[in-house]
Amino acid sequence: MKLLNRDQIESLAKFKSDRFQTTSFFLDTKKRTKTKKEVVLAAKNLVAKAKSRVHQMNLDKEKKNSLLKDLDKISKFCARKLTSYKYSGLALFSCAGEDFWHEFFLPNSPRNRVIIDQNPYIRPLSAIYTEYTRICSLVIDRKEAKWYDIFMGEISLIDSMKSDVPSQVKEGGREGIELSQIEKHTTSRLRDYLKKTAQKTFSIFKKNKFDWLFLGCRDEYRPVFNSLLHPYLKERLKGQIKAIPNDSPTKILDKALKLKKQLKTLEKEDILKTYIAELKKGGLSVYGLKNTLRKLNRGEVHTLLITRHFSKAGKICPKCSFLFVDEAKCPSCQIKTDPVTDVIDEAVEAAFGKNSHVKHINPPSKLKQYGDIGAILRYKT
Ligand SMILES: [Zn+2]
Repeated sequence: MKLLNRDQIESLAKFKSDRFQTTSFFLDTKKRTKTKKEVVLAAKNLVAKAKSRVHQMNLDKEKKNSLLKDLDKISKFCARKLTSYKYSGLALFSCAGEDFWHEFFLPNSPRNRVIIDQNPYIRPLSAIYTEYTRICSLVIDRKEAKWYDIFMGEISLIDSMKSDVPSQVKEGGREGIELSQIEKHTTSRLRDYLKKTAQKTFSIFKKNKFDWLFLGCRDEYRPVFNSLLHPYLKERLKGQIKAIPNDSPTKILDKALKLKKQLKTLEKEDILKTYIAELKKGGLSVYGLKNTLRKLNRGEVHTLLITRHFSKAGKICPKCSFLFVDEAKCPSCQIKTDPVTDVIDEAVEAAFGKNSHVKHINPPSKLKQYGDIGAILRYKT
């Protein structure tokens, strides 16, 4: 299935087997950089390498068999699907011993890798997911309003509404009625129509929970429309696109994606600026893995910043799930910690669980100077 909402990632993160380990498989399937043959070959190599790793692992026979079954299932899936696959990335999660299997078609490419761990390795999914903002594009003219949902590079029509605003009045007006009266009438009908449009946008928001609102309309409608918007939507109104309701969805998508890209770049630059400014004045920021994990454990992180693809092994407390760089014993539970393959992935999961934001920063960036990881805090302690 396509990766479309946060619930999918959260339910994946919840899976854990006490008896078996889970295989997470990620494949870059972007055709622009590779031929189909190369993609198929890369998948084969990944599975073969993982199999030899499983054979060398110090696990009981049942566990090993479950992992080998995972890899067979993955290999069969790839043989069946890859030649006609049209997405940029593929993620497969399997725990054959528990009959657990999930497939995700991704709009972005993850790094090729197979991770064997206690639970699904969700970081590449959350990285892709947080890149995608749900946008509602509203396109209005005198005759019609259309609402589009834009997410993960795809567009779909949510709703539309015809107006009853009279068409433009011709010079001279109608018989018996003064031109100014007709204009007045038209203006109030137009205002009603914009009001209805604003109200409908709010009911769409309540259902669809979009992050950003883009507006395509004539310049003169804009101030009126903005004044009619619910405050929640005023916050979300991020920009204007040049479009009319008659435009094709592809055209609207194209314009919206261009605007989104500009806004995303600005947003990341702003976050980094805030982060660094806070650090310099000893305010609401911390840097480096150790400090960041400490703040994350305490639930103090507002926004977690990570250099994309940065990873590091670490420790987790099996009881309180606190994360550490190298503590052998959890300081609060006084029990032995477990090793984790990638503590950054665990940190992303923990952040999800604590309703913190996660921003994956593309290298090169100034975050590198600060240990490739840091956090903006909710409050100062
Ligand atoms: Zn603990």
